[in-house]
Amino acid sequence: MDLHLSAQEQAFEAEVREFIARELPRDIREKVRLDRHLARDDFMRWQQILGRKGWFTGAWPREFGGHAWSPMQTIIFNRVAGEMHCPELQVFGPAMVGPVIYTFGTPEQKAEHLPAIRDSSVWWCQGYSEPGAGSDLAALQTAAEDDGDHYVVNGQKIWTSYAHHADWMFCLVRTGREGKRQQGISFLLIDMKTPGVEVQPIRMMDGRHYLNAVFFNDARVPRRNLIGDEGRGWTYAKFLLEHERVENANLRFITQELQKLHRVAAEVRSDGKRLADDPSFMAEVGAVEVQFKALEIGLLRMLSDMDAGAPAGPGKSSFIKIRGTEIAQRITELLVQASGPDALRYQPGPLFGQGDDGAPIGPAHALGPVATYLFCRAMTIYGGSTEVQKNIMAKHALGL
Ligand SMILES: Cc1cc2nc3c(=O)[nH]c(=O)nc-3n(C[C@H](O)[C@H](O)[C@H](O)COP(=O)(O)OP(=O)(O)OC[C@H]3O[C@@H](n4cnc5c(N)ncnc54)[C@H](O)[C@@H]3O)c2cc1C
Repeated sequence: MDLHLSAQEQAFEAEVREFIARELPRDIREKVRLDRHLARDDFMRWQQILGRKGWFTGAWPREFGGHAWSPMQTIIFNRVAGEMHCPELQVFGPAMVGPVIYTFGTPEQKAEHLPAIRDSSVWWCQGYSEPGAGSDLAALQTAAEDDGDHYVVNGQKIWTSYAHHADWMFCLVRTGREGKRQQGISFLLIDMKTPGVEVQPIRMMDGRHYLNAVFFNDARVPRRNLIGDEGRGWTYAKFLLEHERVENANLRFITQELQKLHRVAAEVRSDGKRLADDPSFMAEVGAVEVQFKALEIGLLRMLSDMDAGAPAGPGKSSFIKIRGTEIAQRITELLVQASGPDALRYQPGPLFGQGDDGAPIGPAHALGPVATYLFCRAMTIYGGSTEVQKNIMAKHALGL
């Protein structure tokens, strides 16, 4: 595995930089740079700009309208996006349900959904978890009863990220109760405007509306929205989760936060000395940077294997997920430390970009770190908790 950028890769990196510099709307860049929370329109505007260039789904195969980006191109894109204050991409469409649809979907499903994912005209959400089914996902109870050319869906999903923004949900439902629990699960695409689908907000501790509970009361979903075979949803769900864990490597986010950490360390002064000149603090920063380099190499190795036709494999993607989330959490801890007592002020006005007084009290860099730190505690829970990932690695990588 050659880690040096080839001439072509260097040209791609230059093209990404030039494109972002020209196309990323200034107001969105400033929100990301200053840690403001983003609205649906902010995400969609940027994703649609990328979509017009074919870069929202750059890693998709060419036959489905992607650019067949190599693993290195994917890493380059994420790294540059992090350096240049691009928003996080909503990966539910391009990196999760999209690959499921182009791998297992019918020609009609591909025609209906892939173009709208590519150009980001539709927002997807993920309906997997339920109050009694998180780590033990096979315990899910949301039922889809056969009613001829429709399913009638009843039950509840929870912790559904951005369901209030979503147009469509990819959802795991129970269609059978015989045999192993996994055998009765199916993968259904549900239009969020379907009568009987209700979204209730769950507020986060910083006041942000990100999570939801979603209720289904006799929601009628056309049978043509079933992916693959009835009762084989578990296979498609696992395929998708391996992709999700790669996304959870958090390359863009880590790059962005590391850059911020260096900026804050250069600004903050204690006893007249810059934090950036404090050897013990900078040794902590150095340690996490080394871990990040190792993560990038591990990710590149896994993506290269996948490119050569090998599956990501549950053990490998779990390793990437654990390291990516722990490194991200560590950086957010260092940012809170660096910001010191200034970070403790809770200022929802400037944080959400609401109210007359958009200007934060205290240094601008101290506005976001605590909210980001608190949100990032969830990283080692969602997408499969760290404990569960370790179980998977013990079984698949170590054969225990
Ligand atoms: C911010 C956020 C966003 C989310 N977004 C979505 C979303 O968009 N869509 C969606 O479907 N879900 C989403 N989730 C849900 C997430 O996937 C679940 O929270 C996660 O799978 C854990 O399930 P649980 O919350 O039921 O906890 P539980 O499964 O009850 O786990 C509780 C604790 O027990 C540990 N544990 C459980 N089983 C084992 C075991 N076998 N061995 C060792 N330890 C174990 C876990 O590690 C955890 O510490 C989100 C969650 C969060 C926090």
